[in-house]
Amino acid sequence: MIPHTQVLVVDDNEETRQNLRDILELEGYEVALAGTSVECRALLESKKPHVVLLDRKLPDGLADELLPELRGISPRSAFVIVTGYADLESSIRSLRNGAADYLLKPVNPAALLTVIRRLIELRQIQHELHEEHQFAERVLRTAETIVVVIGLDGKVLRCSPHLAKSCGLTLEECIQKDWFETFLLEVDRERFRQHFRQAMAGIESKGLTSSLRTKRGPIRQMRWSSAPLTDEFGSLMAVLSIGLDVSDLVAAQERALHSERLATIGQTMAAIAHESRNALQRIQASAELLELELEGNAQATNDLKSIFKAANDLHGLLEEVRMFAAPMQLELEKCDLRALWRRVWEQVRSAGEERDAELVENVVRPLHLISVDKNRMAQVFRNLFENSLEASQGSVRIDIDYHAVEELDSVEIVISDDGTGFQQEALEKAFDPFFTTKTTGTGLGLSIVRRIIDAHQGTIQIANRPSGGAVYTILLPSHPSMKQVASGEWN
Ligand code: ADP
Repeated sequence: MIPHTQVLVVDDNEETRQNLRDILELEGYEVALAGTSVECRALLESKKPHVVLLDRKLPDGLADELLPELRGISPRSAFVIVTGYADLESSIRSLRNGAADYLLKPVNPAALLTVIRRLIELRQIQHELHEEHQFAERVLRTAETIVVVIGLDGKVLRCSPHLAKSCGLTLEECIQKDWFETFLLEVDRERFRQHFRQAMAGIESKGLTSSLRTKRGPIRQMRWSSAPLTDEFGSLMAVLSIGLDVSDLVAAQERALHSERLATIGQTMAAIAHESRNALQRIQASAELLELELEGNAQATNDLKSIFKAANDLHGLLEEVRMFAAPMQLELEKCDLRALWRRVWEQVRSAGEERDAELVENVVRPLHLISVDKNRMAQVFRNLFENSLEASQGSVRIDIDYHAVEELDSVEIVISDDGTGFQQEALEKAFDPFFTTKTTGTGLGLSIVRRIIDAHQGTIQIANRPSGGAVYTILLPSHPSMKQVASGEWN
């Protein structure tokens, strides 16, 4: 029994009221009494009893007429109409108005207690059902997991809001859609159908990974577990599928594979670069001897200059390849980055042709000294400055903003130029090794920059300025941890 089960007895007959009270109290129920519908209303407002025994004929109203209003006051109470045999028909009408049951007068104590017990039991079951339902709804709403009920015809019958959110649809847009056509890529459909058939055959199937189509943005990778859903007689009704988003895991696995592949390429390239440098030195030495022999021959000297230039370009390329391929071991020391980028800027300016180029600094004081590998960071500034100079024909203005980000114990360096800006494809691929939009580019500059920044446990992002030109945003920790720095892993 629910503790303190309350029963309200509403009867205009004093003796009946007392009688019923005695029976009920003997059973341990808490009893309240009312003689009129007015008293009944007041008690319903204050007590909300579990069960109301309502005499069909009260001096101020008939039960079947009062019932809708009384139920409105206390919707959770179960109303039992107490009626004489002659009024049975109208009492049955009351059942249609929401009465839970009826009892014939004179009330048989055993029948009374059976009815009340049944109603309390019913209430208890409803309560538990409600709790279960609430729990299920809450899980469905809050879990960062896709829960979908797929009908035997393949249509979505129910789903968690997470499915809608992941696909960029509303919940309503998901319902009744063909699961296979709407949410899966064609390559995955047959595999999912097999998985679905297995679940329909009563076998729990687990571990299927498939893509989830989304309205916009990247396709998510999901791992599915499915089980059959049956009705109370055991007949198959639908399939319940639960999908876990494993996109990050899959991406991490791909990254690991990629970095393994890069490491192999890197080792091979380092070996080739080493051998080629030797050959290049031999070419250069022989060309120098030839130059002496050909003194006075203008045409031949000109051709030799082309050979020297080509050898020089090749040397530059090999140096870049070597930088890219060599394992990254940092030698950290406290450094004033501004002094470093100024030095690199001067070198870059004097190495290239005369240009109308300006470097505008915006440094928010105090200027932090941070731990970096000076040579590597100089390489970063060199590659970025060279890219900015190459991204414009005439005059160039490069802005460099430098400030501390206290909450991250880092510094932010924002380098922007007023050149052409990144082409759309470059925005996505600029950091890929060998991606270049230049006829003479190696496509290694930004990959080297990223490797160096990664090794310092920083980040670099690229974007275009709304006003035109490119922006690089670098975030560097003031004190990178030595453990990771020393590892020199491929990224
Ligand atoms: P490379 O300079 O040899 O092409 P990078 O890796 O340095 O190789 O750059 C890759 C590509 O990114 C460039 O080819 C270019 O398209 C783009 N890029 C880099 N920096 C800039 C910039 N400042 N403005 C416009 N595009 C740029």
